Amino acid sequence: MSRIVVLGGAESGVGAAVLAKVKGMDVFLSDKGKIDDSYKAVLSEWNIPFEEGAHTCEQILNADEVVKSPGIPSTAPMVREIREKGIRIVSEIEFASRFDSAKKICITGSNGKTTTTSLIYYLLKNAGLNVGLGGNIGKSYAYQVATEHFDYYVLEISSFQLDDIYDFKPDIAIITNITPDHLDRYDHKMENYVRAKFNITRNLGPDDCFIFDSDDEITIKHLDSIILRCKMLPYTQEKEVEQGAFLRGDQIIVRYEEDETDIYLKELALGGKHNVYNSMAAALAAKAAGIQNDIIRSSLSSFPPIEHRLEPVLSIKDVLYINDSKATNVDSAWYALECQKRPVVWIVGGTDKGNDYSVLLPLVKEKVKAIVCLGVDNSKIHAAFEDIVGADKIIDTLSADEAVKASAAFAEAGDVVLLSPCCASFDLFQNYEDRGRQFKDAVRRM
Ligand code: ADP
Repeated sequence: MSRIVVLGGAESGVGAAVLAKVKGMDVFLSDKGKIDDSYKAVLSEWNIPFEEGAHTCEQILNADEVVKSPGIPSTAPMVREIREKGIRIVSEIEFASRFDSAKKICITGSNGKTTTTSLIYYLLKNAGLNVGLGGNIGKSYAYQVATEHFDYYVLEISSFQLDDIYDFKPDIAIITNITPDHLDRYDHKMENYVRAKFNITRNLGPDDCFIFDSDDEITIKHLDSIILRCKMLPYTQEKEVEQGAFLRGDQIIVRYEEDETDIYLKELALGGKHNVYNSMAAALAAKAAGIQNDIIRSSLSSFPPIEHRLEPVLSIKDVLYINDSKATNVDSAWYALECQKRPVVWIVGGTDKGNDYSVLLPLVKEKVKAIVCLGVDNSKIHAAFEDIVGADKIIDTLSADEAVKASAAFAEAGDVVLLSPCCASFDLFQNYEDRGRQFKDAVRRM
């Protein structure tokens, strides 16, 4: 019986352990930190031996194969030791895909993954397909392979999850865009991060599709340096393409094989230039999955907003409060500001990930009337924007409540209060969801 050791006891690790168990393997899970009670319950339920708080070498170095959770960096001492022993390390998606024959639509990228993944899932569901949603959203892919039977999977995949794959192959792969993020995990080298993202394309064959944003310079530059033998489906807002999606007047045109279809921009449920890209990617994936044009059109126009992503919260005294807590980098905040049509009171700040705010200057000049900083150290935000908005229009706050009150004081009827922080949330909140929920609660208490 082959022995599988799983490193990491959270969503993907526990999923992989359950799958190994279901497949009759000898499985052991080890986590150097604490394992959440809910995951311990799953491990016990499936009779899977595990340890937490330490890695016991004797229990690990006798593995035939190790499944490493994406949260564990490849530089971790245990991972090094496993490699030195010559034991193969694979990611959870690599492991799970060996036991799965469903068609897979896989989405990676720096921004827009969750939105695009959710859109595609919604489209496939509306078309009546038997489809699972997973990866970085909801239940892990491995857990679903162990416990469900789907004909299709729509999987959101982070670059970390793509790190240890060999044979994993999507039928449709999407890279939404590539901008600097998480560079600390990639030796601060952009090319390593780009290569990790492009891992999603490594096994694509002639029947498979690669869907990508051809307005994204980093994507295009990397594509120039590799050869892909699959159907290439670019989407762009800058020019017409023979196959793929593009803009013509006030419509998106989707061209796939012999078919051409159009979708009115004003009918898209999700607003903003970035969501035009996401809707194009989703429409192309749906076409490639054989879904009918009328279902694509109606689904893109009826899609409900996703929590923490330009999510309208409430209108109070004709001031609209928007929760975009998920905007944890400069690029996503750029898109959030870009699509605002009303004067903006902007709530920004948190844990800075080496942000360069200069790209936001024109938009801030044009749209932002006041800035409410929500973070422990706001010095970079002051330095970047104080001259533009004026020293009396920028204020520091340390809680969602304070930030909402300060914003309300700046805002007048017809304005928007936009929480689009550009930063991670860990200085004041547990995570971006916690930040978004506290913001919404504070708005509702007003
Ligand atoms: P991810 O899952 O990749 O983090 P989300 O779909 O959750 O992406 O969106 C996160 C934020 O990124 C959104 O709030 C929005 O501001 C921004 N965003 C979404 N789609 C795009 C895109 N295609 N290009 C740039 N920014 C985007």
